[in-house]
Amino acid sequence: MHEAENRAIESIYAQILRRNPGETEFHQAVREVLGSLGPVLAKRPEFAEAKIIERVCEPERQLIFRVPWADDSGEVHINRGFRVEFNSALGPYKGGLRFHPSVSLGIVKFLGFEQIFKNALTGMPIGGGKGGSDFDPKNRSDDEIMRFCQSFMTELYRHLGEYTDVPAGDIGVGGREIGYLFGQYKRITNRYESGVLTGKGLGWGGSQARTEATGYGTVLFTAEMLRHRGEGLEGQRVSISGSGNVAIYAVEKAQQLGATVVTCSDSTGYVVDEKGIDLALLKQVKEVERGRISHYAERRGAHATFVAGGSVWEVSVDVALPCATQNELTESDATALVRNGVKAVAEGANMPTTPEGVHVLQEAGVAFGPGKAANAGGVATSALEMQQNASRDSWTFAHTEERLAEIMRNIHDSCHETAERYGSPGNYVVGANIAGFELVAEAMVAQGLI
Ligand code: GLU
Repeated sequence: MHEAENRAIESIYAQILRRNPGETEFHQAVREVLGSLGPVLAKRPEFAEAKIIERVCEPERQLIFRVPWADDSGEVHINRGFRVEFNSALGPYKGGLRFHPSVSLGIVKFLGFEQIFKNALTGMPIGGGKGGSDFDPKNRSDDEIMRFCQSFMTELYRHLGEYTDVPAGDIGVGGREIGYLFGQYKRITNRYESGVLTGKGLGWGGSQARTEATGYGTVLFTAEMLRHRGEGLEGQRVSISGSGNVAIYAVEKAQQLGATVVTCSDSTGYVVDEKGIDLALLKQVKEVERGRISHYAERRGAHATFVAGGSVWEVSVDVALPCATQNELTESDATALVRNGVKAVAEGANMPTTPEGVHVLQEAGVAFGPGKAANAGGVATSALEMQQNASRDSWTFAHTEERLAEIMRNIHDSCHETAERYGSPGNYVVGANIAGFELVAEAMVAQGLI
């Protein structure tokens, strides 16, 4: 089916490989989206005519800049900063900043590309972008983090604006960093422009439920997938990877909905806690002390075991939520999950499952929620923060959470319905890719050749 269209897409993909050498994660993200688009081109010849696929794969603008800073001993360090302004068909560029030593142009492009379709799926007026730095915040003092953020913003500010480009957090960038970045933006521009960054503190323009939103949204999306199969989260055994912002609030919402979460992890290993993760202790160790996950196991006593290294996906569960980082759930992990009877997997992180892993899960009939749908709650609530900033208003937690729940239901339903309409019932990967792409492509066609 759609052989001519698939051949055309293969040749576009080959061209993208040639133009972006070595950017393996970007290639992976592009391939995943393009793999769903054959039937769309067949139905919508105007998209091929306007070369929408070729255009959407080329960022509108890519910024790379030097970030010099001095550590507490006075030694000077030079890092590299990035901002990829990928697509503005639906609104100002929107997407987080990641501070991690693995950050490169290819990583930022993969994240920015995903963000275009994720943001479209939210139904909010936001385009796609992403940024960050290869700066490693681990073991850095508060002062060092502040100086780094100030230096980073001293270049980035000229490219931002509430109608232009609106960053937020991602791995390594949380409320503390957004505070330092916002302070520097305000100082340089002499403008209290609340809507220029999201993830702000609650007392100065932040939104209720933004911190919780990505993890909460992932669990709400999972609950919707299960509901469509006649089940709920109540009583289910859940494994979660990671122990950052996404993982912590995925644990919280899963517990609220009656599930037992038995794992969490960080780069040093994972914890199995058969009685269910002690959320207060996890928050204390990771959010307050910024410590390692092994400290959680030490303090929890006999209930929990810490496994250094190894794969958290070996643990037998009904539902698995990868909430750490890209390509953390491989083919062999997926095979282990299927062997142990997993029913649903939803991605709290961006692209945490390898293509081979996704294939194994889907072949086994597991409900699989791709990140661009399942973790869209974070950026959706960022858009709600922008909305509150624009109207100089602030909503209650209950109201904001209700809006988030409604958005997650809509994303689920639009992926589900689109997959069915395009002949792949139950395939949320196809549904998310096509539903997101159609919205962006229609806006690009309408806005002409720009
Ligand atoms: N970094 C988050 C994501 O991957 C949120 C971005 C935002 O709120 O702008 O979607």
